Order: sequence, then structure tokens, then C-alpha cells
Amino acid sequence: MALLKIAKMGNPVLRKISEPVTKEEISTPDFQRFLDDMIETMRDEDGLGLAAPQVHVSKQVVVIESLDDARSEEGPGMPLLVLINPVFKYMSKELRTGWEGCLSLDNLRGRVPRSRAVKLEALDRNGEPVILDWEEFPAVVLQHEIDHLRGHLFVDRMKDMSTLTHLGEFRRYWVKEEDEVEEV
Ligand code: ZN
Repeated sequence: MALLKIAKMGNPVLRKISEPVTKEEISTPDFQRFLDDMIETMRDEDGLGLAAPQVHVSKQVVVIESLDDARSEEGPGMPLLVLINPVFKYMSKELRTGWEGCLSLDNLRGRVPRSRAVKLEALDRNGEPVILDWEEFPAVVLQHEIDHLRGHLFVDRMKDMSTLTHLGEFRRYWVKEEDEVEEV
């Protein structure tokens, strides 16, 4: 396995619409190795999630994982998931606004309104269908990651740019360290 380089804001790959992955490609050793590299990179970067465009690959692939009990007030942890060609089937009109960060936007935080609940369909790494009915913080992670596949960054979704904050000021003025939002 290999660690992959993270694309940072300004790299055009982050603004492209990603290509769907074919069923045939999913089963190839090269693609399976790429999935393992994405998982290893996400863990190495301490991210909760990673989308393929963030590692310079414009394909509809997302990996997600959070097993941190400290996040319990934000809801349950998220098991390791590989989501290929994900599509939202439902997004609640009811919104929640929370802090987000992103591995592609170093040391920035901002408050972003998102749907409180979503239903998502995707394929797993075996090409089998996956259906997720998630709400609260895990639903936000899904929206953040699928946005990457559509060429959107969290700053595009902010309604109030006055909360766009450098990490040092975020810790100093906005929230306590234990509330810190992880990067996705
Ligand atoms: Zn991100």
C-alpha cells in the first residue's frame, strides 16, 4: 500500500465532476489497491473521510471511518465504508449547522448548513449495493464527501463567511479543543 498525496484547494481536480466507476473496474486488482491506498491515506491524515478527487483521482469513490468514542455526542461512530458511485435518494429539508474542516483546505474551519438526515445508495468494494439512512454528524460527513465528487468544497456551502476561521483562532475564539471538528 502507499500513501497518496492530498490535492489542496486551487487544484482543478477538486472542481471537476468525477466519473462513475464501472462494475468491471471495481473487481480489478489496480482499483482494489487504490481503495486500500485511500483507506491508508485517510487514516494517516486523521481524516474521517476521503474522496478520490482529494487524491487527484476524478472518480466517484469515497471512504469513511470514525471509531472515535469521543465523538459520541455527535452520534455513533461510523464503520469503515467504501462508497462507489454514491447517490442521495433523500435529503431532509430540515438543516443543521456545524463546523467543518477539510484535508484539502489546511487549517480552516467554517460553519456549514447541511441536511439533518439523508438516505444514500452506493456500491461497496465488492460491487454490492449499500443503503445508508444516516442523520446528524454522520449525515454531514456523507454530504461533505459526496460534494467532493461534484466539485464542491465546504466553503461553497457556507451561508455566513464571517465564520471562516483559521485553526489557531478557531481554538482560541470559537470552541474548546474537545469540540474540535475533524477534517473530512
Ligand atoms: Zn473535504
